[in-house]
Amino acid sequence: MSVGDSRAVLVTGGAGYIGSHACKALAQADYIPVTVDNFVNGFESAVRWGPLECADIGDRVRLDEVFRVHQPVAVMHFAAYAYVGESMKDPGNYYRNNVVNSLTLLEAARDHGVKRFVFSSTCNTYGVPRVTPITEEHVQLPINPYGASKLMVERILRDFDSSHGIRSISLRYFNAAGADPDLEIGEDHDPETHLIPLVLMASAVGAKPLEIYGDDYETPDGTCVRDYIHVTDLAAAHLLALKRLEQGGESNAYNLGNGSGFSVRDVIRTAEGVTGHAIPVRTIARRPGDAPILVGDATKARHELGWRPGHAELSYILETAWGWHCRQGRDDLKTSVG
Ligand code: UDP
Repeated sequence: MSVGDSRAVLVTGGAGYIGSHACKALAQADYIPVTVDNFVNGFESAVRWGPLECADIGDRVRLDEVFRVHQPVAVMHFAAYAYVGESMKDPGNYYRNNVVNSLTLLEAARDHGVKRFVFSSTCNTYGVPRVTPITEEHVQLPINPYGASKLMVERILRDFDSSHGIRSISLRYFNAAGADPDLEIGEDHDPETHLIPLVLMASAVGAKPLEIYGDDYETPDGTCVRDYIHVTDLAAAHLLALKRLEQGGESNAYNLGNGSGFSVRDVIRTAEGVTGHAIPVRTIARRPGDAPILVGDATKARHELGWRPGHAELSYILETAWGWHCRQGRDDLKTSVG
């Protein structure tokens, strides 16, 4: 079989949160998602829709083996460190894992004749927005090493197109949230740092209060505002990006967001409605590296990729996250996905 006939798509980080949802979407569209994961953040139980290769993308020898065996027609690259706070504390780790290892992966893709590449980028590449909602033309001036590391890969991708003909689509996610509506997979980080799972954990009887990172921002209620996007809608966008590249589409970057901002307090209030539990909170200092407001304009993805987010309501996002949370048995509460 030649690379051109293959239905295999290499999914780095396929055992992780967004990567596993993309694997499900790929399998449903008759691709073979080949997960490459080093299990620093991933879970074997999330790899359910295709082969698994336990490998680090920084290991060129292992990557060569994986490319040889599976002959992927494309790469979807999710594997990365993705915590703003952690990146401020240990930037070197972020640049090594997110930039250096992405370069190793890209060189392997180049040498094995892969010409299509879909990259997990982030709204953190924009920094503090000058205009809201943010379009793709907004200046990219990241304020944390996480965003900077992703922006560097976007730049490398442009050069790999010019020099090696690898066409790529960078998808700049706003805040991925929620879980697979069938509850087969969901968000599972250890330690957990993301707002929605932490809010749900704080709803358990006797749990520690949710810490709000600052309520003195210039936002309507003083807490940070984010654009929460359902993980299944993100996965669908990856498939559309791959199809666009297959149809000869040029390298590009697209925002993936719903265009609606919700504050930390909005999320807490909605979670109280979904769970039926009061959520104790305490406000602490701002988290370094946080932009006050990040809300995306995804008009370009709608027009050019035909992307139609199907689960935009915050309450639905929280219902699926809550369903997953309960299913994980993190407390003794009952599942109630609408
Ligand atoms: N946040 C918070 N308390 C927490 C975790 C997050 O107040 O325990 C805030 C954080 O400052 C940000 C928003 O919630 O404004 C979303 O943070 P998250 O880490 O989920 O995603 P990020 O925006 O960093 O990608």
